[in-house]
Amino acid sequence: MKDFIETTWTYFHEHPELGFEEFATTKHIVELLEGFGYAPKVFPAGTGAVAVLDSGCPGPVLGLRADIDCLAFTTDGKVEKYHACGHDGNITMLLAAAKQLKEDGIKRGKVYFIFQPAEETLKGSLSVIESGYISDMEEIVGMHLQPDQEEQYGHAAPRLLHKSYGRVEVTVHGRNAHASLPYLGINATEAGVQIVNAVNCIRCDARSPYSCKVTIFKADGSSHNTIPDKALLVFDIRADTNDTMSQIMEKLKIAAEHAAASVGATAEISDEVICYSASYDPVLCDEVKSVLCDVLGEEQVRDACPATTSEDFHNYSNQMGAKAAYISLGASFTPFLHANHSFFNHDALLSGAKIWIGVAHKRLG
Ligand SMILES: [Zn+2]
Ligand SMILES: [Zn+2]
Repeated sequence: MKDFIETTWTYFHEHPELGFEEFATTKHIVELLEGFGYAPKVFPAGTGAVAVLDSGCPGPVLGLRADIDCLAFTTDGKVEKYHACGHDGNITMLLAAAKQLKEDGIKRGKVYFIFQPAEETLKGSLSVIESGYISDMEEIVGMHLQPDQEEQYGHAAPRLLHKSYGRVEVTVHGRNAHASLPYLGINATEAGVQIVNAVNCIRCDARSPYSCKVTIFKADGSSHNTIPDKALLVFDIRADTNDTMSQIMEKLKIAAEHAAASVGATAEISDEVICYSASYDPVLCDEVKSVLCDVLGEEQVRDACPATTSEDFHNYSNQMGAKAAYISLGASFTPFLHANHSFFNHDALLSGAKIWIGVAHKRLG
């Protein structure tokens, strides 16, 4: 298995592709799966694929999910693609498990091997769900290679505590006027400042961590001596729970509308939950944890790994109602995730493949 892992990782590492452009990646995944004896299906978007191992007996319908896209970096005007989030490793671990599980077989239910496109765009999981190819899936497990800052090498947890991630756009409408006659206009920039101050006063229960801040503020009167009539503000919101996210969005709407009104402007607001927070099934997580203990040793495993990041994985539980667990696997990812030319300890890939195999056997015999 070690040789297979290194050869397979090298191919994907040398062929990084961005979200929904993973054509060579998908072709190679499909060819390997066919070689193992599967009949994989490519998703309608044209990238990503799913293969099924069906016992033919009743039982749980389990999904094992790996994301497959890379990131882009611009250096001296040149765009370079690189697997800076370790998805080359994620693909490799799941392929190694699919290979072994085809030989082993399972006793009940079935398992989907999901090679999901476009995680980094945060739109890939929805495209997989919309394909209908995994519509009977009842439970799903994800796994990600982690930097030491989050999970020490050789350590793991069955719950990676991804945050909810939301965005609110506020378009401010004021009234144009000559800058020497400001009382005839409504200054959209000043309204925007009121909105930022009002939003900074939003409070939620501090026992559930969150942050809400302006990240874009554009106001343009076209010239220095004109009262601007338009402004755009974008707020980035992170929250530990989906409930806190909803509360912040509701409060932000009220704050922005009233702050704009205080100077006679109006605020047009659109909001979007981009990622749901992690919500995990305790029974599935316990089973995954026991597999982690078997593979890595009890001392190396904890219940949960705190994180500041978000993932589109949580659409599977929020949109499909699938029970979920998500493994944080310490791989000494250095210097950290999303750094150009980052690297990790490849020994983690063998552990990861063993964990996938263990999870499938634990649930499906
Ligand atoms: Zn990433
Ligand atoms: Zn990633």
